[in-house]
Amino acid sequence: MTDTTPDTAPRAATFTSYAPATGEPIAEHPLSGPEEVARAVAGARSAGAAWAALPHARRRGHLLRFKRALATSLDEVARTIAAETGKPPGDAELEVVLTLEHLSWAARNAGRVLRRRRVPSGLFAAHQRSTLVHRPLGVVGVIGPWNYPLYTPMGSIGYALAAGNAVVFKPSELTPGTGGLLAALFDEAVPEHAGVLTTVTGAAATGEALARSGVDKVAFTGSPGTARKVMAVCAGSLTPFLAECGGKDAVIVAADADLDAAADAVVWGALGNAGQTCAGVERVYAVREVYDALCERVVERARAVRPGAAPDAAYGPMTLPGQAAVVERHVSAALAAGARALLGGPESVAGPYVGPVVLAGVPEDSAAMTEETFGPTVAVNPVADVDEAVARANASRYALGAAVFCGDRRTGAAIAARLRAGAVSVNSVLGFAAVPALPFGGSGDSGFGRIHGAEGLRAFTAVQSVTVRRFAPPVNLTSFTVPEATRERAVRLARGLHRRH
Ligand code: NAD
Repeated sequence: MTDTTPDTAPRAATFTSYAPATGEPIAEHPLSGPEEVARAVAGARSAGAAWAALPHARRRGHLLRFKRALATSLDEVARTIAAETGKPPGDAELEVVLTLEHLSWAARNAGRVLRRRRVPSGLFAAHQRSTLVHRPLGVVGVIGPWNYPLYTPMGSIGYALAAGNAVVFKPSELTPGTGGLLAALFDEAVPEHAGVLTTVTGAAATGEALARSGVDKVAFTGSPGTARKVMAVCAGSLTPFLAECGGKDAVIVAADADLDAAADAVVWGALGNAGQTCAGVERVYAVREVYDALCERVVERARAVRPGAAPDAAYGPMTLPGQAAVVERHVSAALAAGARALLGGPESVAGPYVGPVVLAGVPEDSAAMTEETFGPTVAVNPVADVDEAVARANASRYALGAAVFCGDRRTGAAIAARLRAGAVSVNSVLGFAAVPALPFGGSGDSGFGRIHGAEGLRAFTAVQSVTVRRFAPPVNLTSFTVPEATRERAVRLARGLHRRH
């Protein structure tokens, strides 16, 4: 007999992810509300206790198993990334490869970077043994973006796990499948610590619930506007906060630069991933002597670059549909303010795909120079000399990455040292992204704090200072029983020493 009673059981709320190129639905995902988020954090806290107690060598073994599982599932992970972001399969594979490099480094180096360290105790504490200990924070909440849905959040997740934390990850609502797959791979690879990495899915409200949930740190990657909102929530509970936000990266081209190499790198850095790269190239400052020759080379190369759905397309659609309107606004406003379009224009924004746009002579106060465009466009402006290039590059409220093209490597490094950016490549673009030992992060509207490298491991620890008394001090200054004469002698001694040295 068929049961005809209406099904009144409450259904769990879900949301749909879509393919950016076609708008076709991909999958349904749970919409995690405050209760689900609280449960996930409690679960991670309980699974995290045993994880935190492991010696580094054991965690390293587990994380390398996780890494091997990710490498084995590279095709499946890349397929999920490509489906959710629309990027070409080759780009998605490269994203997994970069992630593997970072996970490997974090797993192998956490023990060395975070080891207990003796420090000198100094004259007045010579009877103490002083040590520095890096303790895991507990549960780290990671809120991620959609443009590199694996590589970017793993810059926090992999390092937080290696430092002994549990992680609750909220991927972007545009790329929830990638996040879910990551947590599932961890559980499969490290079943004895299942739940140490867990995912909650949803949009802003889920992210806000995670920031409110009592996690021990929030590592956020996204736009500066959202960073401000999440930081305001974190302020309520003094939850530590790390912000990896956008960029308006500049490339400086000196008179003696290899112009072919510079043009090649500018085009790749500006158009790759449809320009949806936080440290992508958005502004170029070339000294006047080489300006025209550089523009010619940039246009020639950019003209050959085609977006599309084919696997061999150079880049895919705008992942966030609304971003196309931002690109169009920046390009139109620049042209209205007197810029010249060397390639493309507002008409390049057509549906989900945006063709390459190269602008020249863009007024410095136009949105194309001051705001993150996050599209396949680049503005190339002439400058009198490298000094002017440095001043213009530094004038942005963003300070994430930058690049310098210059004939002499030493001069290039000297120019790099004058840039406010958190990471600079000389004679390449984004060279730092593939070096796990190099910290990554910015300042100003690009955020604060560092992921990757030793700093990226330490970012997910609390430093504990420990002194252990080795013997009774000849002069015990931390007691009410110290005779006045002894105290005075100690002060005389210190004054004498510090006056002379
Ligand atoms: P976004 O700010 O819109 O969203 C980022 C994340 O925050 C998403 O998971 C989103 O759901 C969540 N969120 C949104 N509102 C929230 C709220 N009120 N409380 C809590 N969470 C909330 O950014 P996006 O569009 O996903 O990503 C693009 C931006 O990310 C660009 O600015 C790009 O430059 C930046 N980005 C920076 C880096 C870096 O390492 N510096 C790397 C990649 C991307």
